[in-house]
Amino acid sequence: MAGNVSIEFCGEIFSSASRQASSNYGIGSDGRIALYVDEAHRAWTTSSSANDNRAVTIEVANCGGAPNWPVSDKAYAALLDLVTDICKRNNIKQLNFTDGKTGNMTVHRKFASTACPGDYLYRLHPQIAAEVNKRLGQKDKEDEEMAEPVYKEILDVPSWGRPTVEKLIASGALQGDDSGLNLPYTMLRMLVIHDRMGLYDK
Ligand SMILES: [Zn+2]
Repeated sequence: MAGNVSIEFCGEIFSSASRQASSNYGIGSDGRIALYVDEAHRAWTTSSSANDNRAVTIEVANCGGAPNWPVSDKAYAALLDLVTDICKRNNIKQLNFTDGKTGNMTVHRKFASTACPGDYLYRLHPQIAAEVNKRLGQKDKEDEEMAEPVYKEILDVPSWGRPTVEKLIASGALQGDDSGLNLPYTMLRMLVIHDRMGLYDK
């Protein structure tokens, strides 16, 4: 952001049409995050319409000046949270920082003659990608653990559900799908309950 300005002041600068400058998000040194331009719309950030059109861009306030342009720890922490959130909402499974114009994470200096985002943040980009990818991976694991088991074949079905499943297969009522039995846990429980109620006894 080339300066330690508040997210509100930055928004005022961006809202002036003559500036032709903006970003989707801004992060202040206090760690607060602002949305200036909705993600679906292009922000005028990197002087490259191709990049701006596809990217979600973020400006981070600097808590110090040239040549390093450091950002505060609070701003850095907010940046990690924001990037992780953007990836999740846009179904980006992994960040790929190539340090060029390719990949799905780019820096301003690759598109225009600028020191942006400043050496401090620029050097942290591989670390940002690694940390965000770690968080995205953890999310996937949580989802997997929360997902209910699916019994692919009769041998996978726990003993409490085996008699019911065998009965329904024998009667032709339960046939699975093209790739096997594929019976989800909650459905098995429901079938067993119905069986105990005598619904499958003729
Ligand atoms: Zn920039």
